[in-house]
Amino acid sequence: MIAVHGLTFEQLQAEARARLPRGHGRARQIHRQVVRQGRFAPEEIDDLGPASVAAWRAQFAMELPQVVRSAQEESERGTTAKAVLRTDDGLEIECVHIPMGRGRHTLCVSSQVGCKMGCTFCETGRMGLIRHLRADEIVAQVLVARHVLGWDVRNIVFMGMGEALDNADAVLQAIRVLNDPSGLAIGQERLTVCTVGHLAGLRRLQEAGFKRLNLSVSLNAPDDATRSRMMPVNRKTPLSRLQAALAAYRPRRNFTLGVNYCLMPGLNDTRGDAAGVAAFCAPIARVLVNVIPYNPGNDPLTRAPTDAEVERFIGWLREEGLAVRKRVTKGRSVMAACGQLGNVELRRSRRRLPQVSGC
Ligand code: SF4
Repeated sequence: MIAVHGLTFEQLQAEARARLPRGHGRARQIHRQVVRQGRFAPEEIDDLGPASVAAWRAQFAMELPQVVRSAQEESERGTTAKAVLRTDDGLEIECVHIPMGRGRHTLCVSSQVGCKMGCTFCETGRMGLIRHLRADEIVAQVLVARHVLGWDVRNIVFMGMGEALDNADAVLQAIRVLNDPSGLAIGQERLTVCTVGHLAGLRRLQEAGFKRLNLSVSLNAPDDATRSRMMPVNRKTPLSRLQAALAAYRPRRNFTLGVNYCLMPGLNDTRGDAAGVAAFCAPIARVLVNVIPYNPGNDPLTRAPTDAEVERFIGWLREEGLAVRKRVTKGRSVMAACGQLGNVELRRSRRRLPQVSGC
């Protein structure tokens, strides 16, 4: 059985030709149902007889994950909402709908259940990796957001649970499906992959040739000792290797790399740290540093920075000549902000897979 929503239109058409008896096709109408209504209902298609419906049902499926919980936070910037979805094997994943101003919203989607990267500031990292999501499960988050929850989704960031490039096969396929001009047609420039520095995944992304796709890297500390304490991936991929890989990543001439910096008082917020960020970014063509105030979770490393501390650090980065954007904290009260996704129940009953190859 193949999940319809894990395929582009062309892929569905090819699979239908290969799997169904001649004359039972209708891939275009089925695909349109999926995209426009978020459902798989071959019996509702005109002129598709019972034998064809049965053939489609025998070969293809579309089960959207159930919404088991949701929570939202109101602020003057709009409503930030988190939805917890149950997968077909009873696990849970989270996606977050974030207001971006002018009525636009970004959907932050998960790519794994849990994560093996173990970043110490992140709730998901404390779960360990339970399993990768399939491409259809990643796309399903967008379909549920639009068709079940009624959320408007303009941009999509792969920044929810999991390291996206640790699940490169599924994430690349999900990008193809989301970007498919005959399907959801979400432009690559509206999609952002976020990584902690998964070099093998970065190579896969480069080879995939998505020229307009956005990429951001979570830096969070400009020296190896601090970054290795915060982000174990740094022990395997120190800053010099990450820097070289990012300097070589240039999918288009005007490409700007997003550099995410989660500001943690007492850990990575000195004047010297700001200079270190600038030194890290220097060989990389164009960067935009996103300063993200730390969101304390259930077992916080430190407190959240004050506005004055965030502004001071941003000022230092600008003195260093960097382009900087402050990420306004959204969803902190409902554990929907950066670094706060994760499921306590799942963590308690986690079923670890053997660890897959690292960054
Ligand atoms: S920050 Fe991202 S990569 Fe690190 S543990 Fe959390 S989900 Fe994984």
